[in-house]
Amino acid sequence: MEILRVEHLTKTYGKGEAAVTALDDISFSVQKGEFVAIIGPSGSGKSTLLHILGGVDTPTSGKVIVDQTDIYDMDETKLAIFRRRQIGLIYQFYNLIPVLNVKENITLPLLLDGREENRDNLNSIVEVLGLGHRLKHLPNQLSGGQQQRVSIGRALINSPAIVLADEPTGNLDTKNSEEIVKLFKRFHRERDQTLIIITHDENIALQADRIISIQDGRISRDEVNRR
Ligand code: ADP
Repeated sequence: MEILRVEHLTKTYGKGEAAVTALDDISFSVQKGEFVAIIGPSGSGKSTLLHILGGVDTPTSGKVIVDQTDIYDMDETKLAIFRRRQIGLIYQFYNLIPVLNVKENITLPLLLDGREENRDNLNSIVEVLGLGHRLKHLPNQLSGGQQQRVSIGRALINSPAIVLADEPTGNLDTKNSEEIVKLFKRFHRERDQTLIIITHDENIALQADRIISIQDGRISRDEVNRR
C-alpha cells in the first residue's frame, strides 16, 4: 500500500538574483512499512525535502500526498492536526522540552491532541527504548543517546503514518549510533513503521530497504538495497 507520494516537488528560497532552488522537480512514492534512507552531499536539499514531507515547510509547487490526502490542500488547523497524528519527527539535536521529564516528553503529542495515553503502548515503547528507569529524569540528566531515544519515543507514541528523521545519529558516538540504528530496525520490523531517514551514517543507509540519493535538489539515484 502506498503511504506517501511526492509529485513534482519544487522549493525555491528567496527571489530574483538571490533565489536558491533547493528542490528541483522531485517525484517518488513510498510503500507502507518501507525503510528509506536519503543520502547526498550537504546543501543538496535533503532537510528541505524532509520538512516539506512533514508539513513544516511549504513547497513552491508540487504535491505531497500522505495516505491519499494532499497535505498542502489542508487549512492550517487541519495541517497542524495531521502533523501531530501522522508524522513523527526526529532531529539531530533531539529538540526535547527541557522542563518536562522523560515520560512527559514522550507523551507530549498525546497531551497536545487531548488524548489519553495507552499504557500498554507507552510501556512497550519505553521498554524497547530501555528508558523504564529514567521516566522521571529531565533531558539534561540524560546522555545524548538516551535523549535521542526519548525523541524516538515521542515520534512513535501516536503510531504515525510516517517517521521522518534528520541525521538522528549525527551527534552520537559509534556505540550510541549503533544502538539507535538497532532501535529503528526493531520498530520498523515489529510495528511495520514507515521510516524515512536522512543520514551520512553508512550504518543506517545499509540497513534501509531503499536508498534515495539527492544531488542539487534532484534525485540522482533511487535503488533497492540488496543487503
Ligand atoms: P541539506 O539538508 O542536503 O544539507 P538543505 O535542504 O538544508 O540541504 O538546503 C538546500 C539548499 O537550500 C541549500 O543551498 C541551502 O543553503 C538552501 N536553504 C535551506 N534553507 C534555506 C532558507 N531557509 N533560506 C534560504 N535558503 C535555504
